[in-house]
Amino acid sequence: MMKNITRLRDFVQSFTRLIEQAGGDEENIFADGERLLSDLVSHDDWLPDDFAQPSSERYQQYLLYCDPTERFSVVSFVWGPGQTTPVHDHTVWGMVGVMRGAEACEEFDLEPAAGCLRSRGTHQLSPGGIDLVSPRIGDIHKVSNALTDRVSISIHIYGANIGAVKRHIYESDTGRKKTFVSGYSSKVTPNIWDRSAELTTGN
Ligand code: FE
Repeated sequence: MMKNITRLRDFVQSFTRLIEQAGGDEENIFADGERLLSDLVSHDDWLPDDFAQPSSERYQQYLLYCDPTERFSVVSFVWGPGQTTPVHDHTVWGMVGVMRGAEACEEFDLEPAAGCLRSRGTHQLSPGGIDLVSPRIGDIHKVSNALTDRVSISIHIYGANIGAVKRHIYESDTGRKKTFVSGYSSKVTPNIWDRSAELTTGN
């Protein structure tokens, strides 16, 4: 099926304007960004198939776009049945929008005195649903495909080139953390810049 890549390009352009206007103000970014991301994930017609492929090994993180000065990045997370992340943090703001299937998200607080993690509980997101994370509002979570019989896909936006950020994985029982850098599952990104189809139709 031909994918409507215009939708991703429009999102990238709108989000770039938002980042320029927000001047790093996280609450502004969340307020307007949530609306843009919600609109993007409510239309499952644009993600190219190459960036929607699950792996039986582990969940996939495909970079879809990174801002030239690394102020934000857009990533598709593709979850095989039952796949799950470790407990982890981000160290920057992030927005998670479910586009296909369903996701379970368990959030944690770090108990400063004891140094251990306390679960805030688990909630489920269905298509169109958005979760927010950041060091300010709560940055530690564990995300899973809520479905055991099919693939789920979510689109994530972060306030950095997230695959190149040094952050942490936590042992859920002890709260002990170790540094990790996630990287990306593909060496290529989608081409959002070929406008030839829109320029030649109708001629
Ligand atoms: Fe996360």
